[in-house]
Amino acid sequence: MAEPHASTDLVIVGGGPVGAALALALADGARAITVIEAQARPPVGDTRATALSESSVRLLDALGVWPELAGDAVAIHTVEVSQQGHYGRTRMRAQDQGVRALGQVVAYDALARGLAEHARGAPGVEWLAPATVAGIDQDADGVSLAIDGPDGHNERRARLAVAADGTRSPLRERLGTGVREYDYGQTALLLPLETGGDPHTGYERFTSEGPMALLPAGGGRRTLIWTLPPDQAEAMAALTLERIAGRIAARLGRSFGPIVPHGPPVAWPLRRVEAERGHDGRVALLGNAARTLHPVGAQGFNLALRDVCGLAAVLGHARDPGDAETLTAWSCARQADRWRTRLFTDVLARGFVRGGQGLGAVRAGALLGLDSCSIARDGLAAQTMGLLGGLPRVGNWHLERRP
Ligand SMILES: Cc1cc2nc3c(=O)[nH]c(=O)nc-3n(C[C@H](O)[C@H](O)[C@H](O)COP(=O)(O)OP(=O)(O)OC[C@H]3O[C@@H](n4cnc5c(N)ncnc54)[C@H](O)[C@@H]3O)c2cc1C
Repeated sequence: MAEPHASTDLVIVGGGPVGAALALALADGARAITVIEAQARPPVGDTRATALSESSVRLLDALGVWPELAGDAVAIHTVEVSQQGHYGRTRMRAQDQGVRALGQVVAYDALARGLAEHARGAPGVEWLAPATVAGIDQDADGVSLAIDGPDGHNERRARLAVAADGTRSPLRERLGTGVREYDYGQTALLLPLETGGDPHTGYERFTSEGPMALLPAGGGRRTLIWTLPPDQAEAMAALTLERIAGRIAARLGRSFGPIVPHGPPVAWPLRRVEAERGHDGRVALLGNAARTLHPVGAQGFNLALRDVCGLAAVLGHARDPGDAETLTAWSCARQADRWRTRLFTDVLARGFVRGGQGLGAVRAGALLGLDSCSIARDGLAAQTMGLLGGLPRVGNWHLERRP
C-alpha cells in the first residue's frame, strides 16, 4: 500500500487515450508519475473508428505504440469531399503532399488499450485502477489529492496534476472550472458496414440531412458517421438494417454499390464542451476534459495528442512543472493550433449542415474552387494531417516527414 501523502512529480487523473499518452510521453524513469483511472481495464466494445492524422501516427510511433497498431490500421491515401445532388467535389491525395498516407484509421478500442498497456508498463509510472479522486487541495507549492483506490484510501502530493478524465471531467467540476457548451442540435449515428468504393479513401459527403463520413476499416468494411438532427437520428435508428442501408445508398449514389450494414447503429448526441481555462492553479486540463469537439472533422484525439506533446516539451525545461509561468507558456504555444482546429471543425459541423438549394449551390462552388486551387487544397490537407504550423517537439524526437 502507498504511503499517506506519498510524493510524486505528476498526477494524471484519467487513463483514457489522452492521459495514457501523456504518461508515456513523460515516462523517462527519472519522473514519478501517478495515473488515477476509474476503470479497472480499458472498456471493450466501443465501435468508434479513429482516424489518426499523419502527425498523430508519427507521435504514436515516437511513443513506441504505433508498431502494434500498424498491423490492423488502414491507410488513407485520398480524402474525397462531395455533396449529394450537386456537382463539385474535391480530392486530397497523399502523393500530392509527398507522404505515403494522409492518415490511418484504427479501432478506438485498440488505440485506448495499446496506449494504456504501454503506459502501465512504462518506467516510473504508478497506475492506480479502479481509482477516483475524493478530494483536491492546492497551495503555492503543490497539489494534494485524496484518492479512493484499489487498496482503499490513498493520498498523493505533486507539483502538477492533469485532468484527463473526459468530457464531464469530475476533477474539473471539483475545481469549479466553468465550461462553455454549445449544443449542435445534432446526433451522430455510427454504423459499421460493407460497401464498394476505394478501400483507401475516406469520404466526406454532405447530404440534405447532415454530413456523412465514411472511414475505411479494412477488408471492404467501413465505419459510417452520419450527423443528423436528433429526431431523424432516432427515427433512423428504429428502422430495420435493410431500410437504413437503402437510405444510405440513396445519399451515397450508385458508384458505391450495395450497402451491407454490420449494425446495429449507435447514437452519439453532439455538444461542444470547452473549459473556460486551460489550467486552473496547478491543474492542467487535457483532451476531452479541456475541449470536446464535434467528430465530423476527426480532430479531437489528434489535437489532444499535439497538446500532450506540447505539454511534454514545455515540462522538459520547466523549473517548476505546475507554476503559472510553465502552464501559461504551454497554453500560449498551443493557442493557434487549438483555435484553427476548432474553427475547421465548426465550419464542417455548422456550415455544411442542411440548408436549401441556394446554400447547396454555394457549397458546390466552394468545393469546385477548392479543387482548382492547389494552395487552398494543400492548406486543407495540412490541417487534416495535423501538420499546419509544424509539430510540437518532444525532447529529441525526430518527427520530420517520412518518405
Ligand atoms: C463518434 C466519435 C468519433 C470520433 N472520431 C475521432 C477521429 O476519427 N479522430 C479523432 O482524432 N478523434 C475522434 N473522436 C474524438 C476522440 O474519441 C476523443 O478526442 C478522445 O476519446 C478523447 O480522449 P480522452 O482520454 O480525453 O477522454 P476519454 O476517452 O473520455 O477518457 C477519459 C478517461 O477518464 C476516465 N475517468 C472518467 N472519470 C474519472 C474519474 N472520476 N477518475 C478517474 N478517471 C476517470 C475514464 O474511465 C476514461 O478512461 C471521436 C469522438 C466521437 C464521439
